[in-house]
Amino acid sequence: MAACSFQSITKSFGPTPVLRGVSLSIADGEFLTLLGPSGCGKSTLLRILAGLEVQDAGSVSIGERAVDGLRPKRRDVAMVFQSYALYPHMTVASNVALPLRMRRLSAFQRFPLLGRLLPGTARTAAEIDVEVTRTCKSLGIGHLLDRKPGQLSGGQRQRVAVGRAMVRHPAVFLMDEPLSNLDAKLRVQMRAEIKELHQRLGVTFIYVTHDQAEAMTLSDRVAVMLEGELLQVAPPQVIYADPDDRRVAEFIGSPK
Ligand code: ADP
Ligand code: MG
Repeated sequence: MAACSFQSITKSFGPTPVLRGVSLSIADGEFLTLLGPSGCGKSTLLRILAGLEVQDAGSVSIGERAVDGLRPKRRDVAMVFQSYALYPHMTVASNVALPLRMRRLSAFQRFPLLGRLLPGTARTAAEIDVEVTRTCKSLGIGHLLDRKPGQLSGGQRQRVAVGRAMVRHPAVFLMDEPLSNLDAKLRVQMRAEIKELHQRLGVTFIYVTHDQAEAMTLSDRVAVMLEGELLQVAPPQVIYADPDDRRVAEFIGSPK
């Protein structure tokens, strides 16, 4: 079964076409990487899936369901942003708890009495604390719950952003260049952690990078993107050994 799919997605900003008819289906549990140079449309495609941007034409499904028009928080995805997008005035614990607290608040608003009885929608504050602590411990940041983002290293901040996505238990995990703000050594270490996280959670990951080494080591399949089009979607070894076209070969640096 497909965890999600894009059907003929197009998008322009003003006169500039950014996505030129992208179709792609991602299998349940797969680690798929969108790989391509800066400006080719990777983030825009991910943001359309998350509901943060609206396509001009085409359709997006998550699971069996077309989600076009659904608000971001009604979609079963969570995103780790390149900038991490943490709230600087809030502690680690509060940053990670935020999606659960928002969900609790909106359930209370809709169902003032029943809100807290609905499973998964409205956990009690104590239950949220337990979940946040457990998540942070599993990411090795359990001792940092009371710190603010400004008091953390880049790698620690990155883990907080991952934690905030994890607490939602999304069916699809979206990561937009999550390692690009880290130094080279930490990048390699965090790459291994992301791979481990994918195995541990067993959910679908869509990962965006312009870094071929990251794409090749992490992915079940790589989707090579250039100027708003997918040129080839295949396992890393196939992309290397048998690039479909000269532009893929040039970007990957393999000998075709
Ligand atoms: P990538 O993530 O591959 O670097 P993006 O999807 O961020 O590429 O951007 C693709 C193109 O769309 C770029 O030329 C970028 O400048 C443009 N773009 C992205 N978002 C916007 C926006 N909100 N308004 C105008 N242009 C945008
Ligand atoms: Mg981008």
